[in-house]
Amino acid sequence: MWHLPRPFHSAAHSYAAVVATTRSVERRKLLLEAIPTVRKAGHELRRAAVESTLHDLDEKDFAVPGIDGDTFVEWAYDNGMSAKKGKRIRDELMAAPRNKRCPLCSQGTVYELDHFVPKSLYPALCVDPLNLVPACERCNKLKGSMQPRSAEDTLLHPYLDRISHERWLDARTVHEPDFVRLEFFVSPPDTWDTTLTRRVENHFGLLQLGQRYAPVANNLIYGMEARWDELRRRRGGSMLRDHLLEDAASWFRKDPNSVEGVTCATLADDEVFCRTG
Ligand SMILES: [Zn+2]
Repeated sequence: MWHLPRPFHSAAHSYAAVVATTRSVERRKLLLEAIPTVRKAGHELRRAAVESTLHDLDEKDFAVPGIDGDTFVEWAYDNGMSAKKGKRIRDELMAAPRNKRCPLCSQGTVYELDHFVPKSLYPALCVDPLNLVPACERCNKLKGSMQPRSAEDTLLHPYLDRISHERWLDARTVHEPDFVRLEFFVSPPDTWDTTLTRRVENHFGLLQLGQRYAPVANNLIYGMEARWDELRRRRGGSMLRDHLLEDAASWFRKDPNSVEGVTCATLADDEVFCRTG
């Protein structure tokens, strides 16, 4: 959901660095022989990214000759990314998101690297930086080894998709007997086509973003309740609305889809919430 700069290292460069320190001479030889396969797989991934066909990658193009998939992933990713040079690449990728916020949900703390297309199906991409997205534990778990089968099913890729510059997140207020709470949903801008709209809705649903944003909003309302009640009582509903809109504008300057910004803007639009008295 939130854009990150594309990683600097190419697939082959990253792979060569990761496997260069493999201790076993025989294993290292096998891994180095796979460099052309990894390079070709990286080119294929980038071609599919440009053509928006990540859902259509053929698994047989990403097998590594002479090494079965699970073994290759263990040697190159599990062992290689833990060793010195691999760890440096891993740390660089993990450090990219601002404030360590997960780019897939904007709420969780970055915890691990998620393989955008699963390493179990596409082992040759297991250490390709373009396929390694820093993610929180929950997003990584919810996403699992899912491989999209259509463009609409393809989750948003933080290195490739740019939707964070325009507002697409919205919410509605729900008035309970003793409190008000928010429910979040995707509100596609006019500039989006059907495919992008479906993709964002699928991303929002699969990663349970509505369930994640509601507690953030409700906690903000809970914490600000006394201040907002006082503003409403002393200076009237229209002053409360102006205050909420100013706060929303401040959040939106940093992020047009800030959960806190959407919370303030939604409450400002709610006539009951901003009613005097
Ligand atoms: Zn996340």
